[in-house]
Amino acid sequence: MIAHNFEYIVPTSLGDAVNLLQKHAGRAKVLAGGHSLIPMMKLRLAGPEFLIDIGRIPELAYVKEESGRIRIGALTTHHTIQTSDVVQRRLRALADAAALIGDVQVRNKGTIGGSIAHADPAADYPASILALDATVVTLGPKGERQLPASKFFVDMMTTALEHNEIVREIQIPVKDGRTGSAYLKMAQKASGFAICGAAAIIELDDSGVLSGVAIGITGVGSHAFRANKTEAALKGQRPAPDVLKAACDKASDGIIALDDIHASADYRLDLARIYARRAVEAAIERAG
Ligand SMILES: Cc1cc2nc3c(=O)[nH]c(=O)nc-3n(C[C@H](O)[C@H](O)[C@H](O)COP(=O)(O)OP(=O)(O)OC[C@H]3O[C@@H](n4cnc5c(N)ncnc54)[C@H](O)[C@@H]3O)c2cc1C
Repeated sequence: MIAHNFEYIVPTSLGDAVNLLQKHAGRAKVLAGGHSLIPMMKLRLAGPEFLIDIGRIPELAYVKEESGRIRIGALTTHHTIQTSDVVQRRLRALADAAALIGDVQVRNKGTIGGSIAHADPAADYPASILALDATVVTLGPKGERQLPASKFFVDMMTTALEHNEIVREIQIPVKDGRTGSAYLKMAQKASGFAICGAAAIIELDDSGVLSGVAIGITGVGSHAFRANKTEAALKGQRPAPDVLKAACDKASDGIIALDDIHASADYRLDLARIYARRAVEAAIERAG
C-alpha cells in the first residue's frame, strides 16, 4: 500500500526538532531509521501529517564512556552499537542484541532510539536495556527527563514517552570486577524478530559466588520484563548446573505470554526458561 500524504520536515538541531513536535502536537511523528515507521505508514497503521526527520542531527549519534556510565545517542545505528569497541568490551549483551537484529540493511539504518520508542514486543534491545539497568533520557518542551528502563516500557508498542518528547540518549552504568553479559534469542525466521530473547548480566565475587544477576526477557509477553524470581534464586549461589536449571525454571512465572502464528503461549514460556539459562551460562563463561 501507499502511505497517506504527509509533509516532510528536516530539522538540523535537537531544539528545532522538539519545537516542531510541539507545534504539530499529535499530528507529527519523528522519523529516525524509518525501518519500523515507514512500514507502519505503508500499511496505514500510522498516518502522521508531518514527518520530522531527525536523521540529520549529528549531535544525536554517539557512543561515549564517561563517569562510570556509557552514553548512547538515540540516533546511533544498530551497526555502530554492534561494532563499537566500548560496547563490545563493556556491554556485551547489548552488542549481541544489535548484531542479531534483522539483516545488514536494517542494522545500517535502524537506530536504538527508534527501536525503544517503537517498543515492539519482539524487539531485541529491551531485554538488554532492562537487565543493564539503563536510563532513557528524553527531551521535550518542559526539558529533560530521566526514565529508568523499568518505567519506560509500559506495554505493547507503548512507552512512557510523551507525544511531544524525543528520546535523546540511553545511559548505562558500567560494572567493574568479575562480570559478564550475553544476549541470545530464538528468531522468527523471516524477519529475525525475537520469538524469545534473553539477556543476562552477572557478577561473581572472589569465591565464585553469584553476587549480582539481572535477566531481561523479550518476545514472550506484551513487553520485555525482568525475570525477578530467577534473579533472586541465583543471587548468593554457586552457579552449578542444577542450581541454574532450578532458578531459570522460574523465568516466566506469572507472565501472560503472547500466542500467535509464530509460537504458542506455552512454547514462549518454555523458551523463556531455556533462553534465560543459556544466557546466564554464556554470561558466566564470559566472566571467566
Ligand atoms: C525486515 C526488518 C527486520 C527487522 N528485524 C528486527 C529484529 O530482528 N529485531 C529488532 O529488534 N528489530 C527489528 N527490526 C526493527 C528495526 O530494528 C528498526 O530499525 C527499529 O525498530 C526502529 O528504529 P528506526 O530508527 O528505524 O525507527 P523509525 O522506524 O524511524 O521509528 C520508529 C518509531 O519510533 C519513533 N522514534 C524514532 N526515533 C525516535 C526518537 N529518537 N525519539 C522519539 N521517538 C522516536 C518514530 O516516531 C516511530 O514511532 C526489523 C525491521 C525490518 C524492516
